Parts: sequence; C-alpha cells; structure tokens
Amino acid sequence: MTGLSDSFQRPINYLRISVTDRCNLRCIYCMPAEGISRLSHNEVLHYEEILAVAQAAASLGISKLRLTGGEPLARAELISLVQMLSRIEGIDDIALTTNGVLLREYALPLKKAGLKRVNVSLDTLKRERFKRNARRDRLGEVIDGIAAAEEAGLEPVKVNMVVIRGINDDEVLDFARHTIEDGWHVRFIELMPFTSGESLQFVPTKEVKERLSSLGILEPIPSSQGDGPAKYYRFPGAKGTVGFISPLSEHFCFNCNRLRLTVDGKLRPCLLSDKEVDLKTPLRSGASLEELKVLIQQAVAAKPERHYLLEGMLPTVRSMCQVGG
Ligand code: SAM
Ligand code: SF4
Repeated sequence: MTGLSDSFQRPINYLRISVTDRCNLRCIYCMPAEGISRLSHNEVLHYEEILAVAQAAASLGISKLRLTGGEPLARAELISLVQMLSRIEGIDDIALTTNGVLLREYALPLKKAGLKRVNVSLDTLKRERFKRNARRDRLGEVIDGIAAAEEAGLEPVKVNMVVIRGINDDEVLDFARHTIEDGWHVRFIELMPFTSGESLQFVPTKEVKERLSSLGILEPIPSSQGDGPAKYYRFPGAKGTVGFISPLSEHFCFNCNRLRLTVDGKLRPCLLSDKEVDLKTPLRSGASLEELKVLIQQAVAAKPERHYLLEGMLPTVRSMCQVGG
C-alpha cells in the first residue's frame, strides 16, 4: 500500500508527466490544424525540475511514472530524462505514451535508459484516413514504430484507438483482428469532449462491444494492479487482448490512483478538472524537497471524487496536449 492517499481513501501511486506541448501530428480531436500557441522554453519545466518533483513524489509513495505530452519523443534528450528518473529510489515502472512516429529511432535507447513499456496511439490503419485525421502522412512510421518497440522488449505494447463516430468507428473490427492474428493489445477509448475546434461524437463502449461480437465471445480477463481505467478481454485463443476505457459511459474515478504534472509545472489532481497546484514557482524560488512534498500532498487532498463530464462540466483552461492525456 502506498503512503499517499486522497480524501476518498484512494491510494495514489502514479504520476503522469507531460514533457512537452509540441507535437509532430495534429490529430483532429486534440489539436487545431495550426497547432496551439506553444510555450516558450522557459515556461516549460526543465528536466532537473521534473526530476525534483518525481523525487519528492517517490518519497511520498509514487512508484509509477508515465511520460506523455504533446509528443514526448519530440522533446530533445528525452533519453537522459528517462535515465534520471529510472535511478530514483522507489520508482519501479516508467512508461511512455507516444504517437509512435519516432519510435523506430528511440525504442532501443529508451529501453536501455530504463523505460519499461509503451502505449502507442493509433486511430486508423488506412493511410489516406491517417493523413486526414492526424493531418500528416506518417502511418508507415507508426506501424514500424510499434514493431520497433516490440523488438526492443518495451512490452506489452498497447495500441490506443480513440473511437469517433463516422471517422474511424468502421475500423474497430480490423483493430480487434490484430489481437487474434498478431497478438496486439488494443484499447478502445471513448472520445472525451476536450476543446479541439472540431465537433466530434464519441461511440459508447457498449456499441463497440456489440460490433466486435461477430469475431467471437470476448472473455473477461481478471483485473490486476496496474490495469488503470481499462477493462480487459480476450477472444478465444488470441494472444493479444482487447481493452476498453470508458470515461463517459462508465466512469472509473472510484479507483483513480493518479496525479498529473503539466508541461508548465502545475500538479493536476484530475485530468477533467481545472484545479491545479503550482510547483514551478516554488521550484524556481528554491523550494526544498520537504516543501515540494507538502505541495504534492495539497494536490492529493484537492483531488475531486469524480469527474462531472456528464453533468456538462468540462475542463476549459487547457487542451489535452498541455495536460498530457
Ligand atoms: N502524443 C502522444 C500520443 O498521441 O500518444 C501522447 C499525448 S496524447 C494527448 C495522449 C493520449 O490522449 C492519446 O492516446 C490520444 O489519443 C488521447 N487523447 C487526446 N485527446 C483525446 C480526447 N479528446 N479524448 C480521448 N482521448 C484523447
Ligand atoms: Fe499529438 Fe498525441 Fe495530440 Fe495526436 S493525440 S495531436 S499525437 S499530442
């Protein structure tokens, strides 16, 4: 059991770190075509500052880290950050969420630096559609990146697909077939209504499951620690798994174990609430480890019981790529 728990007795042992707001893709549900107005170098936490936060968090009981963004592999010298984080006492798992474009180049060095696993976001297997939805022609690199991650032993590689009505929902069977034929671990995610300038519609998990039923009966896999919000299943005989993340149709806040560090140094206790605790100002005024620990505890104490998306309360201050999805 972790040393940190919130006001609702949820153990908190997981910190997601957004290392950049920049990206080499422009997914329609995440960023406008022109990108977002990017933070200057000085507004973004330096690696030493991220390290200080992670050390303080680890000393309170955080044991799992995930690097995200923006596109984390688009930030220079990410390997050195992974190396620094992997040496922190108490951190036993470091993972990465990436769009996969640069994985062929970085998978092996990341593994050597101490990264354990990667999740790759991939919303379509069709080149023209990828070009339209990610506004860049880079599907081939992503598919090759997934292979590179497997070869490097960054396993299990999980493929995350955000299912959007009329955009890619006709491909759920194709993704699911990869779990049977190629041992992929695919997770279907309900689109959350973050502001992206596009009007898009989510597809409820129940509907995705109905569509998959033509491939066979999905057998539930007992949940284990580290599954996070996903529920896992397997088609009979398949090597890979099918997961569902359903923030809208079945909210999973009751066992949320995470905190988020934004690219500009705010600790955010909930992805879907605008509440934040500033760490960058204290860090730059010379805060000690003990002072950082107090601020982290404040953020944990402010963690809301659940999100209120269905009641129409949306986070407004930031886009997903600044918080780190
Ligand atoms: N660039 C990396 C990537 O795409 O994996 C990391 C950052 S991205 C913001 C992290 C994850 O958030 C991706 O899997 C992406 O599909 C997901 N995401 C972004 N906007 C979303 C939204 N509105 N609803 C659900 N998931 C979203
Ligand atoms: Fe970039 Fe990831 Fe957002 Fe796509 S989802 S625009 S890859 S940050």
